[in-house]
Amino acid sequence: MNRRLAIAAAALLLAAFRPAGAQVPVWPGGHDPAGHRPGARRGDDPHAVPAAAAHGEQAHGLAEHGQVEHAAALGAHGDHAATDTEHTASAHATPGHAASPAPGAPAGTAHATPAHDNTAHAAPDGIAADEALARLLEGNARFTAASQRHPHQDAGRLSALAGGQAPFAVIISCSDSRVPPEVVFDQGLGDLFVVRVAGNVVDDLGLASIEYAAEHLGTKLVMVLGHERCGAVTAAVQGGHLPGHLPTLMEALQPAVSARHEAHGDPVEGAMLANVELTAARVRGSAPILADLVAAGELKVVGARYDLDTGVVEIVDPAPHHAGLDGHQALDRLVEGNRRFASAGQAWPRQDQTRRVQLATGQAPLAIVLCCSDSRVPPEVLFDQGLGDLFVVRVAGNVADDARIASIEYAAEHLGTRLVVVLGHERCGAVTAAVKGGQLPGHLPALMDALQPAVALARPVHGDLVEGTMLANIELTAKQLRTSRPILAGLVEKGELLVVGARYDLDTGVVEFFDEPAPQALHASNGGHGAH
Ligand SMILES: [Zn+2]
Ligand SMILES: [Zn+2]
Repeated sequence: MNRRLAIAAAALLLAAFRPAGAQVPVWPGGHDPAGHRPGARRGDDPHAVPAAAAHGEQAHGLAEHGQVEHAAALGAHGDHAATDTEHTASAHATPGHAASPAPGAPAGTAHATPAHDNTAHAAPDGIAADEALARLLEGNARFTAASQRHPHQDAGRLSALAGGQAPFAVIISCSDSRVPPEVVFDQGLGDLFVVRVAGNVVDDLGLASIEYAAEHLGTKLVMVLGHERCGAVTAAVQGGHLPGHLPTLMEALQPAVSARHEAHGDPVEGAMLANVELTAARVRGSAPILADLVAAGELKVVGARYDLDTGVVEIVDPAPHHAGLDGHQALDRLVEGNRRFASAGQAWPRQDQTRRVQLATGQAPLAIVLCCSDSRVPPEVLFDQGLGDLFVVRVAGNVADDARIASIEYAAEHLGTRLVVVLGHERCGAVTAAVKGGQLPGHLPALMDALQPAVALARPVHGDLVEGTMLANIELTAKQLRTSRPILAGLVEKGELLVVGARYDLDTGVVEFFDEPAPQALHASNGGHGAH
């Protein structure tokens, strides 16, 4: 991004945050703002490190080094940080105790801290977005489990923050008294930079506030938090004439009312979710500052929903699920992923901390894959997919029995997955054993029996019998799934499930998909596998 412009903008913002009579705004220490980028670590303060090392929260295994960095970021206040440590330790000893020795702390204190920004320090290099999100969701888990720690709410923290703040997340939420971010995320002073307005919309003032946190305070995560049964959204959905300044708010919510999720039965819920997505998109696309930070990977924006009944915060944007993709769209994703794999251009998507926490409450995988146990054929690797993407059933020789079919039914019926891939592979050991025949020990005869129909089908055909059997087994297994009553066959007949066969080439890494046969071809063709 244009750093000069950014610096000028930030200086203006900084000026805006200074009360009258404060000193002339200065970018911290006149530093090269590169000090703000990943790699330029803070925590050089020798006093801060021991305090951080003794930090009580480490004992909880919560955000280990992040908490250390955070404490270090608070700068040359090692003594105060030590006080904070003691407090945290005592909170640990008495979980659930509302340790708030400074309840009378003026609400404006944290907000006023920019005026005292310590120019001897570089702008803090904020906690990574993934870690920040994990910290929020962990705090919310404590809140919903009634095991709050009420961190960072004591006199020591107050003093430690007097010289500056380094909040780890920006929260854009509703003014609604039931949704206070510090409470629902179990955080304290200096943790969250909060913009609240009825209906959690953003206007220029809101964007300016986010810019200040992202550019000057180094915060890497913005969460747009909508909530159930929001009064502002309800009023916007109902429409009609409203007095005073309310029409301004209703206008800001109109795009969400228009774009509300039709699939959602409840129009208020649908508009609230659309508003979260639209607001998150507006923050991500806000040029020049926020859009540039997002493009540079220095800022992440997520949308979330707060459930008034359970207290749970759920990530809704970007959607953690593949819900809504039909079988052919899902197939396209697998084809693209395999192309990346076979050309050594993998993206290794959705394998980060954010994805993990997004999936903690549920899954909606892109595809079901039935494939061989062979260690050379791991589906997530071959299709370049990540957590929550594939529902995988693996057994030697990729055959289907009742337990395998039941697993597939679960994903197709309950998780809404629309694609099943039966994936065989070249030179399969199980298929080779079935072709050779002969007496085998233990449970192996059961597997050989399951493969016999494929051997019988392939034997009259010229060519490599192992390859022919492998292809026939794919075809027979795919047919078995398509015609499995009542669940899978029912979904196939309604056009809600696509079952395709595929062959993995050990030499090239390429997966070749076979066309789904038309229903009449199921009976007409025996070995209708695609040529290659
Ligand atoms: Zn609300
Ligand atoms: Zn195999």
